[in-house]
Amino acid sequence: MSAISLYARPSPDFAQKLAHSLALLKTAAAKYSPLTQASSLGAEDMVITHLMHEAGLFDKPGVSIFVLDTGMLHAETVALVKRIEERYPVTVDVYHPDADATSAFVEENGPQAMYKSLALRKQCCHIRKMAPLDRALAGKKGWLTGLRREQSAARAEVHDIEQQPERTKVNPLVEWTQGDIWHCISANALPYNPMHDQFFPSIGCAPCTRAVTLGEDFRSGRWWWENESAKECGLHVAADGTHEAQEPAAFEPLSSIIPIREIPA
Ligand code: SF4
Repeated sequence: MSAISLYARPSPDFAQKLAHSLALLKTAAAKYSPLTQASSLGAEDMVITHLMHEAGLFDKPGVSIFVLDTGMLHAETVALVKRIEERYPVTVDVYHPDADATSAFVEENGPQAMYKSLALRKQCCHIRKMAPLDRALAGKKGWLTGLRREQSAARAEVHDIEQQPERTKVNPLVEWTQGDIWHCISANALPYNPMHDQFFPSIGCAPCTRAVTLGEDFRSGRWWWENESAKECGLHVAADGTHEAQEPAAFEPLSSIIPIREIPA
């Protein structure tokens, strides 16, 4: 069963939400340029990219999209970069982690270090996500994310505009439901990760993502061995640290080692 047939159910006020998101994107481009979208290539981010196009943002200087290719993403995820570039007049900026840092980390801690302790998991996220994120956001005045309030308890307080110390974070989909997202994908035939059709509602790095079963929380397939209330990689941790993960109980690693793609120099 496809994700569209499972989830595409627009809210009664979907038209108003759509209009609000488009207006917010235009405001963001006017006030916070250079403005960039942090795309995880997930369903929400495919919607945002489409709305950026609908709002005419790709005609404006200073608007961009970036992806953090951690070297641990599924091939289905990476393939979406090309599909975005085929459909929209935009080139996606792809940021990779430092090759020496990833090699040294794997050599010292093993390819499954993220399961050994919270500290090692966070260190892996720092090398593969946070350090490249800093490079991607350098010089940007604003950034766009696909955060939605209903995604998790940690995201329930997210606002559509959040002032951060160095830039403004704009979240155009805070009020959208999962049904709204999939309605938009269906109505506009947007490209999306085929893994969503296999019960992966939230897709990150391969070792840290699994399918969920019906009734499980949206984020339950991410870092599933950690504290339920704190599944963030650091990109969206609140300024006061309230979304920080807690040390998990002992975890039995996967029996199979997930291959790590080579990081371009
Ligand atoms: S999500 Fe997992 S594999 Fe990806 S950077 Fe974080 S710990 Fe490493």
